[in-house]
Amino acid sequence: MLFQGWRQYLDLVFPRSCSLCRRPIVGSRSPTLCGHCQQRIKPIAHSCWKCGAPKLSGEQQPEFDRDSSKSKSLKRSCRFCQKQDWDINRVFAYTVYAGSAAHAARLCKDSMHESLARSLSHSIGDWLYQRDDFLPICYDYIIPIPQHWFRRLMFRYHPASVFAMGLAGRFGIPMSESYLKRSRWTTKQGLKTISERRESIRDAFAVSHPKKIEYRSVLLVDDVMTSGGTLADAARALKAAGARQVDAVVFARGICAGKLQPSAPPSENRMQKAHVLHSYQSSATAEELRRRLH
Ligand SMILES: [Zn+2]
Ligand SMILES: [Zn+2]
Repeated sequence: MLFQGWRQYLDLVFPRSCSLCRRPIVGSRSPTLCGHCQQRIKPIAHSCWKCGAPKLSGEQQPEFDRDSSKSKSLKRSCRFCQKQDWDINRVFAYTVYAGSAAHAARLCKDSMHESLARSLSHSIGDWLYQRDDFLPICYDYIIPIPQHWFRRLMFRYHPASVFAMGLAGRFGIPMSESYLKRSRWTTKQGLKTISERRESIRDAFAVSHPKKIEYRSVLLVDDVMTSGGTLADAARALKAAGARQVDAVVFARGICAGKLQPSAPPSENRMQKAHVLHSYQSSATAEELRRRLH
């Protein structure tokens, strides 16, 4: 309360400006975005259970029944990810990479805007916290998609790490930047086609401590997901090292033009939460099992 009052006083004397539109921030909950820009970065209301893409109008919500896990997974996939052979179990995508969200994601790539990335990670944390199907207790580690060591040395800033740090602090999940490494340099993905991106990223990751990953559940974090190739390749390396579950959180999800659906209130239900909880409980990590047995 005291901090809020002090902040409002400081805002009057030294008004902060919005990272996106440069207008003064007055009465906004975000320290880096004005209320107008904040409202324009909308969380995806209905998304594909598996890849996080916004659902098209008329597409069915996921169904849960007693089918095999493979047919369940297919039912929860959209037409895009049904064709993908991904090792990633599911993706939580906060918003669509378009308009103000795309502008914010581009700014976050610059260390000048680290505070914007931090405040967006708080928004993602709030959004995940309200989801019935996100259970932080299920994850052993949060791992940001790594940069090549040389790029890290040159820029000393990595937006995925800032997002991951925010989420790790919020949910109390240990964060590791050393278990997963980028084993080779990959060129900028921006102007490539989807197939070129997949080819360039293939086998770009390696697990440096497989024993730490074996039987564990990992939550990968990245700022932007485009074709999904980067996350899928990182997940492949983690699964090859013995990871049991690999999910991902991204700030912005790239989609094909013209496939947006208007926002609507979230409709995740208790049944979905029960299902996820059951699937995790039935395959607990060795550490969890040890803890329960003692
Ligand atoms: Zn603004
Ligand atoms: Zn999908």
